[in-house]
Amino acid sequence: MERKTKIIATISDRRCSKEFIAGLYEAGMNVVRINSAHATLDGANEIVDNVRSISDKIAILIDTKGPEVRTSSIENDGAVELVQGEKINIKGGTGFSTKECIYISATNACAKIPDGASLLIDDGDIEIKILSHVGDSMVGVVCNSGTLKSHKSVNIPDVHIPLPSVTDKDKEYIKWAIKKGVDFIAHSFVRGKDDLMEVREIIDEYQSNIKIISKIENREGVDNIDEILKYSYGIMIARGDLGIEIPAEQIPSIQRNLVKKCVENKSPVIVATQMLQSMIKNPRATRAEVNDIASAIYQRADAIMLSGETASGDYPKEAVMTMDRVAREVEQDTNAIIDIEFNDITNSITAQLSRSAVRACLNLPITAVIIDTLSGRTGRYLSSFRGERPIYAVCYCRHVARELALSYGVFAEYQEPSQIHKHFLYNRLEQLENSKKITKEDLVVVVGGDYGAKQGASFLEICSVINLQQKYVSQNTQRHD
Ligand code: PEP
Repeated sequence: MERKTKIIATISDRRCSKEFIAGLYEAGMNVVRINSAHATLDGANEIVDNVRSISDKIAILIDTKGPEVRTSSIENDGAVELVQGEKINIKGGTGFSTKECIYISATNACAKIPDGASLLIDDGDIEIKILSHVGDSMVGVVCNSGTLKSHKSVNIPDVHIPLPSVTDKDKEYIKWAIKKGVDFIAHSFVRGKDDLMEVREIIDEYQSNIKIISKIENREGVDNIDEILKYSYGIMIARGDLGIEIPAEQIPSIQRNLVKKCVENKSPVIVATQMLQSMIKNPRATRAEVNDIASAIYQRADAIMLSGETASGDYPKEAVMTMDRVAREVEQDTNAIIDIEFNDITNSITAQLSRSAVRACLNLPITAVIIDTLSGRTGRYLSSFRGERPIYAVCYCRHVARELALSYGVFAEYQEPSQIHKHFLYNRLEQLENSKKITKEDLVVVVGGDYGAKQGASFLEICSVINLQQKYVSQNTQRHD
C-alpha cells in the first residue's frame, strides 16, 4: 500500500547533488523545499535543475523571507556577549550592533513596541525585556545571557510592526521562481489578506500558475486563518517561529485546529519544523518525535516537513525513511478514519461526487479511485475526504501533477491531452495493472468529466477493471468503424 501522507524535505544549496536528491526521492520524499533565507539564486537554480533531472514528479516549494525583523550585523562578523541583568539600548537602523546598542531592521519598530514587551532574539535564545523608551530608541534588560551574532531573527510576540509584506529580496525570488517553473511559494509570516495580495500581484503580472502556501507563524496568522485560507492554495504550520511568537504549550491545539480547518476547506496543509530534530545528529528518532509525526498523521495533515534534518543534518536519508515508516504504520490504523460528514460539501458537483466516491469505498470492496483532473480540483476534493483508498489521478499539465504531490492520498501521472474520449482511463488502468497496483478483477471507482475543463467532474462510475477496459475497446472500435 502506498503512503498517503506526503513528505517535504528542505535541501540546501551546499548539499544538492543529483545523487543526494535521488537518494531522498528513493527514500520517499515528494516535495523539495528551498529556503530563500539560506540559498543564493545560483544555488537555488542548481537545486531546481538537479531535482528536475531526477524526476518531473517531485514538486518544488520555495520559502520567502516575508515581513521579518532581524538584528543588524556585528563588526568583522564577530559576536557580542550579552549578560543577564545588563541594560542595553535597542534602535531601528543598520548600524553595527554592540554590547551597548542592538540595531533591528524595522526602522519604525520602536514606537510600536510597548514597555514590558519582550524581544526574542535568535529563535528565542536571547530575551530582552523593554523597560522604557528614550526618543526613538528603547532601553531593555537582558533576561538571559547569550552570544549575539550578525543578522539574527527577532520575534516580538503579540506586537504588530508595520512591515512591507514582500521584501525586495522576496520579489527577486518570486520572479525567479515563476520563470524557473517552481510549483509553490511558501510566503513567510502571513498575517492576513494584505500580505498575500502583493505576492498575488506579481504572480498575476507574469500570468503564472505558481501556488501560494501561507506560512502561519504568529498570532495574527492564526487569528486571521479564515481570511488567509480564501487567498491561499494551502497552509504551512511553521512551528519554529510559531512556538516563539506564541507559548509553545499552545501549539498542539493550534495545530489541531488549523489542520481541521484546512481539511474542511479542502486546502493542503503542511506540519513543519522539529519533527525529527534529534536526527540532525543521531541516526534514530526519539519516541517523542515518532509520536509527533504520528499526531500530525492522525490529525490528517496532507504533508509533514523536514528542515535541518535534510538540509544539513548527518542522517538525511534516514530521516525521510523514518517519516515514511511512521506514516505507513499510522495510516493503517483504521480507527483513525476521519468522519467524512464533517467535511462541508458545498453545492459543488465535484465535492458531491468526491464524497460519494469515498463513501462507496467504505461500503464496497473497491481497490482504488481513478480520476482525471485538469486543474487539480477533483484531486484535491477527493483528497479532502481522506479516504482509505489511493486516488490515482491523470493530469494534462505537468505542474498540476506536481501540485498534487502535496495532497494526501493522491498519486498523479501526467498524460498528453488526448483527443480520444476516456483514453485517460485506459492508459492509467494499463499502467496500474503493469505496476501491480490493481488487477483486472478489482473494483474501481472512476470520477471524471464529460463536459470540458470548466465544468469539472460530471460522472462517477463503479465497475471492475476488465469491464472498463472492454467498454473502452468496444467504444473505440465503433468509432473507427
Ligand atoms: C518555521 O518557522 O517553522 C519555518 C518553517 O520557517 P523558517 O524555516 O523560515 O524559520
